[in-house]
Amino acid sequence: MVYDFIVIGGGPAGMMAAGRAAENGASVLLLEKNDRLGIKLVITGKGRCNITNNELDTKNLVEKFGKQGRFLFSALNKFGKQDIIDFFESRNLPTNVERGNRVFPENGNSLDVLAILKDYLNKGKVEVRTKVQIKSIVTKNKVIDKIILSDKSELQAKKYLIATGGKSYAMTGSSGDGYKWLTAMGHTIVDTNPALTPLLIKESLVKELEGLSLKNVDINIYQNNKKIDSRFGEALFTGDGMSGPIILDMSKKIGLALKDGAVKLEIDFKPSLDFKTLDQRVQNDFAKSNKKLFRNSLGDLLPKKLIPLIIKLSKINPDQPANAITKEERKRLLHLLKNFELNIKSLYGFDKAIVTAGGVLLKEVDPKTMQSKIINNLYLAGEILDLDGPTGGYNLQACWSTGFVAGESI
Ligand SMILES: Cc1cc2nc3c(=O)[nH]c(=O)nc-3n(C[C@H](O)[C@H](O)[C@H](O)COP(=O)(O)OP(=O)(O)OC[C@H]3O[C@@H](n4cnc5c(N)ncnc54)[C@H](O)[C@@H]3O)c2cc1C
Repeated sequence: MVYDFIVIGGGPAGMMAAGRAAENGASVLLLEKNDRLGIKLVITGKGRCNITNNELDTKNLVEKFGKQGRFLFSALNKFGKQDIIDFFESRNLPTNVERGNRVFPENGNSLDVLAILKDYLNKGKVEVRTKVQIKSIVTKNKVIDKIILSDKSELQAKKYLIATGGKSYAMTGSSGDGYKWLTAMGHTIVDTNPALTPLLIKESLVKELEGLSLKNVDINIYQNNKKIDSRFGEALFTGDGMSGPIILDMSKKIGLALKDGAVKLEIDFKPSLDFKTLDQRVQNDFAKSNKKLFRNSLGDLLPKKLIPLIIKLSKINPDQPANAITKEERKRLLHLLKNFELNIKSLYGFDKAIVTAGGVLLKEVDPKTMQSKIINNLYLAGEILDLDGPTGGYNLQACWSTGFVAGESI
């Protein structure tokens, strides 16, 4: 049988493309190497799936992807954030908008997102084959002729989509196979790098903070005493480093800076209070009880887990009465609260990267159809493209939009 469309990769982009093409009447075969579809999709948003970002202005959404974002304009206009929200809501999955305009299923269950996509495939009679091992993709005169599987069987279609994702979190199936095939077909692959990754920190003291999650902090990044980035929001201490939304969002820039030398970060635990106001606040806390010891006096100001370390680093005797602390000692304490310094060792690698930066050169893909400009009957969608956005649902939106447009175009 010659299918209308063969889709390789059963992630969000591939499932959306397959479902849309089938909905329009195409005969579709979806090939997935895992034993099931959407393994990465299910772990997104810590199992809650941050489906998209409720950014109202497409221009702002596009800008989140940097220079390459312009590529997405047309796809977002055809199938944007409201379309994907409607897609799920009309299939009985209500959504909620959370902090930072992040859109999640109301029930916080990514399995339901996957179930709806599978149902979409079923309704369109998409033939799904899992545990598929592709041996080679044969091209002739700039057209894909057939796919040869490792059991030597052959598959043919009029049109093909490669949506095999990037190469981060390889255990979910995205191990970079698509890049190899596409390079062999003559496509250019922009250097791939881990993006949205946690940081490894040089100071071993972060171990003491493992699991501490910070809200409403400022984190500033410095190289050669020059501030190179700064974010306000949430971060998290891991056993040997830091993660959380603002760290992940700055990781790409940090990774690039690390190539040029040392990079450090400074946490401002109290960004809403300037030095003078914070000093006043600390003095008020210390004056509350004249018997209170320093070690018991920071409870209103800092998370419990942070207090022992701050006390240790401040070099203030923990057992002295808080109201006996000198101005000089207070200054040291304030410095720790406003400029808590840590040196960055490196980024984590692809194994912990939420997305892959780099991928198929966008100039080689038609943004209106997702059709390859190198191979006539080939389409590309999802993270395999040279597109990576910040945290907040942007990356999945790019997958839904490019997948939909590819499915629609064929
Ligand atoms: C921990 C984590 C949390 C995330 N959370 C969010 C979030 O909340 N919101 C958000 O917007 N983004 C999030 N992302 C990013 C998002 O998951 C990805 O950008 C998205 O899944 C990419 O979709 P895709 O369809 O392009 O590729 P993938 O989801 O990687 O799917 C590709 C599929 O192709 C299959 N495949 C690969 N090679 C072959 C082959 N040779 N033959 C057959 N099949 C093959 C793979 O097995 C896989 O199923 C998260 C990522 C991670 C790792």
